[in-house]
Formats: sequence, structure tokens, C-alpha cells
Amino acid sequence: MEPPGALPRPHSPAPEAAEPPGSPALPAEEHPPAAQEAKRRGPGPQGPAECGARVGAGDGREPGGRARRPRVTVDSSKAKTSLEALKISLRQLRWKEFPCGRRLPCDIYWHGVSFHDNDIFSGQVNKFPGMTEMVRKITLSRAVRTMQYLFPLEYNFYPRSWILPDESSFFEKEIRMMKDRDPSWKPTFIVKPDGGCQGDGIYLIKDPSDIRLTGGLQSRPAVVQEYICKPLLVDKLKFDIRLYVLLKSLEPLEIYIAKDGLSRFCTEPYQEPTLKNLHQVFMHLTNYSLNIHSGNFIHSDNANTGSKRTFSSILCRLSSKGVDVKKVWSDIISLVIKTIIALTPELKVYYQSDIPSGKPGPTCFQILGFDILLMKNLKPMLLEVNANPSMRIEHEKELSPGVFENVPSPVDEEVKVAVIRDTLRLVDPHKQKKKDYWILQEHGYYKTSFFFFCCSSQTLEHVSDAKEELLDAGPPERLDHDVSTALEAGLPSLCLKQVFPKYAKQFNYLRLVDRVAALFIRFLGVKGTTKLGPTGFRTFIRNCKLSNSNFSMASVDILYIDITRRWNSMGIDHKESGMCWQAFVEAFFFLAQKKYKSLPLPEQVASLIDFCEYHLAVLDEKRLVCGRG
Ligand code: ADP
Repeated sequence: MEPPGALPRPHSPAPEAAEPPGSPALPAEEHPPAAQEAKRRGPGPQGPAECGARVGAGDGREPGGRARRPRVTVDSSKAKTSLEALKISLRQLRWKEFPCGRRLPCDIYWHGVSFHDNDIFSGQVNKFPGMTEMVRKITLSRAVRTMQYLFPLEYNFYPRSWILPDESSFFEKEIRMMKDRDPSWKPTFIVKPDGGCQGDGIYLIKDPSDIRLTGGLQSRPAVVQEYICKPLLVDKLKFDIRLYVLLKSLEPLEIYIAKDGLSRFCTEPYQEPTLKNLHQVFMHLTNYSLNIHSGNFIHSDNANTGSKRTFSSILCRLSSKGVDVKKVWSDIISLVIKTIIALTPELKVYYQSDIPSGKPGPTCFQILGFDILLMKNLKPMLLEVNANPSMRIEHEKELSPGVFENVPSPVDEEVKVAVIRDTLRLVDPHKQKKKDYWILQEHGYYKTSFFFFCCSSQTLEHVSDAKEELLDAGPPERLDHDVSTALEAGLPSLCLKQVFPKYAKQFNYLRLVDRVAALFIRFLGVKGTTKLGPTGFRTFIRNCKLSNSNFSMASVDILYIDITRRWNSMGIDHKESGMCWQAFVEAFFFLAQKKYKSLPLPEQVASLIDFCEYHLAVLDEKRLVCGRG
């Protein structure tokens, strides 16, 4: 055990937390023998996928003489530790795997870590550019905080957080003030290093002065968060929920949630934090990678017992005790949608920098791992989002002291294979082509991804609505074909449930910052950048008619220098100079406050967005007329 207040960090295997960046790919020999695997994992016409596999083998005809549908091709050469689950999914789908990559383009590229694992110019990649950066603890806290500023009630599912070292003194001051106001308040805080995973470096404190400076906060910034002291317990143990969420598309926004997830249990009975038990990791942290080292850890052979269970088994149990599990689910869905709405503006900035509209590039989708804690009163709280949730379906078993072997984990396999397989079914390029074709037919529009940043959000919503209507009302032959394909393959119904745009009407009012991002992107100018230069900022002010006698261009320059310098001194990204996205948001909120003092906060921002969009539309119209002239 480390010094008081610190949580020890035993040797850890990988599963369940975020995949640590750069984790090595499994060498081929580590895969279970094909025959054994085939027996365990059911039907699949292909043998193990080979390197340099034949393309379009056979005569291209089904046994009955019908022309065979070309098989979807998947490059799995960068799949790393998600490889096993991916292989099973591809076999179930009868898709063609290229484990060593392929000279010709593939339909889908499956990356284990990030978007930037390859140069890809077409097809689909299972990662968004910038997602890893976006869900780091500090960036996520900032993105949620922006939304908490505008919509405090809607975003109260994220514990109050401070960023260290930038806000150390502010944190101390705020807590002192709160304690003075209410001397009976005895809070606990959890300190989490930025970019950490698997509970690495996490510790609990009772007082801001207990933050450990050894190792240097400067070298390892962190987030300090209010600790949720009253979690829901099952069998007297604290547990959290890992839910899989598919971000299928950023524009239009499409979100799916897996109907089942995993519950990871602590291995010591829970007690509310006291100075004596603060350092007991097995009581306070639910990380699998930590608890597996406890003598009390129970490997689960079925979904209802042990230290890792399916979330559905927990819901069943709660339901039998009279809990309204439908309400729990709808609160979780709402938490997921709101969190993604908080992430999308900056993700769009990254996206356009990597794949500017007009440049050939792949489209993206991504499976995210949401870590959620249910409080005693059943309110779900967001702990973190993982860009690379572990997709490993085996766990380490200690055969004799110090000797470990990888053995299959049925609980992991049940949940994770379904998530990967059904993600692939949803992004199936053959179905996608049909969808695009129908959009083109009905509306004369181009492929949605092509005009990503070319239209206003309203137009995109219109297209999205139209698309949904179109799919709902799709011609019978097409639906029949899809159903029969699914039946032929003997696949179960989808485990992923669409939640957006399905529930868009309830949440669209929260998408204000997305529109601010569209303004930021418009003025970024140079392709491949994520920071706004002084000229870009001046042009934004001028084109949106924001400068007047009360706010001269000299004041604009001072505002730019002030905010940009402060954000750049926080040392997030020194590679580029200029105003980063978060700094622009601060400047925008400042301008909104200045211009619409009398309005409540969200209306100030909404009014300024309307004002800017109006002037830019007028300008575009003028340019169009001049162009025609
Ligand atoms: P990591 O990425 O290192 O796993 P997390 O943010 O997921 O970091 O935190 C690790 C564990 O600590 C969580 O699984 C949860 O059990 C516990 N935890 C994290 N934040 C809180 C919090 N605010 N209140 C209570 N428990 C928390």
C-alpha cells in the first residue's frame, strides 16, 4: 500500500478499462487453435482468415446459381486486443477479413487504438479523429462544464470537477467557502490523473490540502472530483456499469446504445469514506484491473454472479425488488445523449481538421465505453467515457503462483461480440449504399457525408428526418431482402438500440454549442488546423457585424490576445499557435453576455448565434449574387 490517502497500483492485466494507447497486437500464435475456437463459437463457413486472402474466391454464385452479393471486406491488421471478438463477429456475418491488410482498399478498417493508425482515403474507420483527446479526463470535464454553464440542471449527472494544477487555488477557495457555510459538510474528493486508465494513480482525499504534489502536477495534470459517497450497493458491494455506445455518425448525429452492458464489482464490502478506509482500493474503485488482484475476486461463469456480471442481470434483480427499471434506463439514455452532445462540437473541429470537406477520406464510426455509477437513489452519474473500451473476451487466470493463462470469459464474450457484430451490421456498406441511393432518388441530394459542413444544421436535420421517413417507408422488396439476409445468416436481432435521432426532439435545444462550432470552423481558414489565428478572429467579428462604437477592433484584438494567451499557458497543445476551440467558446460567451446583458444565459448565447448566422447568410447571399453577376 502506498502512503495514506494513496491507492496502490498492483500489476494489472488489460481488460475492461480503456485500452492503453500503443498496446501491442496479439501475436498470431496467441490465438486459440481454429478448430477449438470454431467449436466454441458456432457457425461460420470460413476457416481461419489467411494473410493475403483470396479476393472474390469461387465463381461468385450461390449454390442455387443466384449471383452472390460481394462480401464486405474488413482490414483487421490494426485491431490489436479487439481482434478475437472481431474475428468471431466477422465469421458470424460471413464477411471477408484481411488480418494483414490488403493492397486494394477495404470497406471497413478496424483500428484498436486511434484513427491515425493508417493513411486511409475511402471506406469506413471505426475511430473518429480526436476522440481519444476528447474523452481524456480534463477535456471531457471541460466539455461537460461548458454545458453545465448553459444548462446546469440538465448536466447535473457529472460530479463537480476542478482541473489541476490550473484551478488548484480556486478549488481550495471554493471548498473552504462551502465548508464555512455548512460546517457539517464533510466531503470526499477523488483525484484522477489526466489520460490515466485502469485506476492508475487515482486516490481519495478529504481535504484539498491533501493533494499530493510528489511527481509534480505540472508533469501530470489531473481532475479532482467530488466523490460519490452513496452508491447503490448489490450484495453490499459497490459496482459500476460499462455501457457500449455506438456513435454511428457525427453529422447527422446518430447514436445507438447496447441493450446490455457489464457491471464491475468491488471486492470488499463498501463503507462510506473515512480517513481510515480512504486507501482501500478494493472497497472504493470498481476497476476490474485492480480488483482481479483481490483474493475475493470471483470469475463469472454465468451472467448473474461473480465480480463481473451483465448489467441486465442487475436490472432483473432490481426489478424483482420493485425498482422502476424503465426509468433507470431512460435516465441512462438521457445521460448518454447529453454527454455526446457535449462532445460533438470539438469533435467536429477535429474532424474537419483531419478530413476537411471536399478532401477524399473515410467516414467514421466509433464504439465508446461509458462508465456509469448508479447512486443509492438510482440516479446515474457519469464517471468517464472510454474511446477504446477493452474488447477482450478472455481473462487471465492464475494457474499456480505467478503462472497466468488466458481463459475465455463467457460474460465478456456474450456482451462484446454482440456489440461488435451489430455495429458492423449497422455500418454495412452495402446497406449504406442503398440508403444513399434512396436519399438521392427522393431528394436529389448528394451522399450525406459529402456535404457535412456545407449546409446549415437545419438543412441537415431536414435531411436526417427525411432519411428516417424514407427508411421507415422503404420499398417492401428492400426490407424483405434485409430481413431474409439476416435470417439466412441466422443472426439474432440487433443488440444496439437507436436513441438519436429517435429522441432528437427532446434534446435538440441542447445543441447550441454545435452551432458555435460551425462558426469557429468557418473561420479556421487553413485546412488541417484546429486553432484560429488573429486574422480569422477579426474576420469573424467583422463578418458577423459584432464590432461597433462600444466594441472597437482594437478591443477585439485585446480580447483575442488575452483569452488566447491564457488558454495556451494552460499547456494543452503547444504544437500550434492561435485560439483553441475552448478559448473561442469563452470569447463567444463573453460577447454574448456583453451584447444581451438582460437575457438569461442560454438565451444570450442563442441570440448571438442567431445574430451571427443571420449576418453570414446575408453575406453568402450577396456573394452568390455578385458571383452570378
Ligand atoms: P480510470 O480511467 O482510471 O478507470 P475512472 O474515472 O473510471 O478512472 O475511475 C476509476 C474508478 O473510481 C471508477 O471505476 C469508480 O469505481 C471510481 N470513481 C471514479 N470517480 C468517482 C466518483 N466521482 N465518485 C465515486 N467513485 C468514483
